[in-house]
Amino acid sequence: GQSVNVIGAGLAGSEAAWQIAKRGIPVTLYEMRPKKQTPAHHTDKFAELVCTNSLRSNSLTNAVGILKEEMRRLDSLVIAAADSAAVPAGGALAVDRHDFSGIVTRKLKELPNVTVINDEAVTIPQVPTIIATGPLTSAVLSEEIKRLTGEDYFYFYDAAAPIIDGETINRDKVYLKSRYDKGDAAYLNCPMNKEEFEAFFRELTTAETAPLKDFEQEKYFSGCMPVEIMARQGAKTLLFGPLKPVGLEDPKTGKRPYAVVQLRQDNSAGTLFNMVGFQTHLKWGEQKRVFHMIPGLEDAEIVRYGVMHRNTFLNAPSILKPTYQTKVDDQLFFAGQMTGVEGYVESAASGLIAGINAARLAVAEQPMNFPEETVIGSMAHYITTASSKNFQPMNANFGLLPPLNERIKDKKIRGERYAARALERLNDFVIKL
Ligand code: FAD
Repeated sequence: GQSVNVIGAGLAGSEAAWQIAKRGIPVTLYEMRPKKQTPAHHTDKFAELVCTNSLRSNSLTNAVGILKEEMRRLDSLVIAAADSAAVPAGGALAVDRHDFSGIVTRKLKELPNVTVINDEAVTIPQVPTIIATGPLTSAVLSEEIKRLTGEDYFYFYDAAAPIIDGETINRDKVYLKSRYDKGDAAYLNCPMNKEEFEAFFRELTTAETAPLKDFEQEKYFSGCMPVEIMARQGAKTLLFGPLKPVGLEDPKTGKRPYAVVQLRQDNSAGTLFNMVGFQTHLKWGEQKRVFHMIPGLEDAEIVRYGVMHRNTFLNAPSILKPTYQTKVDDQLFFAGQMTGVEGYVESAASGLIAGINAARLAVAEQPMNFPEETVIGSMAHYITTASSKNFQPMNANFGLLPPLNERIKDKKIRGERYAARALERLNDFVIKL
């Protein structure tokens, strides 16, 4: 049959190549390392882990744990390699990174229908092709992709504010209102009095920030300055900036609070909220500590922490279908971090879907949308239906799944219900593949 090109043998590209090749279809896999390294990779191995050796939770009460289990059932190479290379890590799946990427590399190179081309792709090859060149895509190829998608739909920098699970916000303290009641009441508002603001301000300006990597020492783009840097210019910068209270009188008191933190609905289901103007470079533990001081967010679960780093990614809601095909060309797919999924496992998961669908196309079968109730399917759904205006990459989390029929407070039981539903739907779906 016709050969499928996969560009980039990272987490997503390796998984995609495996899914295609194991279905008997030839794959041409392009990888530029070690001839040309990215600023974060150091080896010549496929699926190199550029930072931590942890693939996060392995528990079925956690979204990324369920995602792994779904991938096991879909015969994922990345998760199988991680399971074989696992090191003790409590409830997490952590790996010996050399063993892990060694296994992925060997398994792919062993397959007779995988041809590895050890060079940088400088143009997008003839279709069918999956582009999975990651957050540090080489410069020349980035330009090619930008030409394809258009300037406005391609980004080099990720400046994301934290995203919160809506069910964990204290609705007794926050109120729904838009500034001056313009348009629909689209924001949840967290009101602060003077004392609350001053305490918050003190912690925000002294909290610890994450260290920048060399290649991240770029100037902050105007309009997305980290909230803690803005705060260091003085309290007024916040009070006339992201925390300004004008037009946001609290309906319970009729009074204008001293300061207001606004939360904007982030997905169409209304289960996720992002903190307006709170792009941040604080360490994750510090985000949790300081943002929990905001009235209404005392017990809020941050499902995606604020980050500011170099990241090549597309405006997926405008560019992609939930099959990871591009809207402009059914035979051209994207996978991995560049599609707006965030994380090792999430990247591999998107490669898994893209791989299966590219393999289906190669034998003239219809590509498949994975069920939304599965974590793997929920990510594909999210990145293609999120608001294209403020689109930022996303981790696997329960806020992406359609809500359960009943509201369950106990986190463990809630997780178990999501898991049971996800795995049941997946089992029904796998039969159709
Ligand atoms: P990659 O795994 O980066 O794979 C892309 C591959 O394409 C690479 O092998 C690259 O060499 C190759 N390539 C690039 N351009 C070309 C070209 N033109 N031709 C041929 N080959 C090319 N996620 C986590 O879950 N935990 C973390 O701790 C974590 N830390 C991160 C730290 C940094 C510095 C960065 C940048 C990201 C981090 N991520 C982390 C996010 C993300 O999970 C990883 O970047 C992950 O590797 C993404 O998988 P991918 O397959 O999309 O890209």
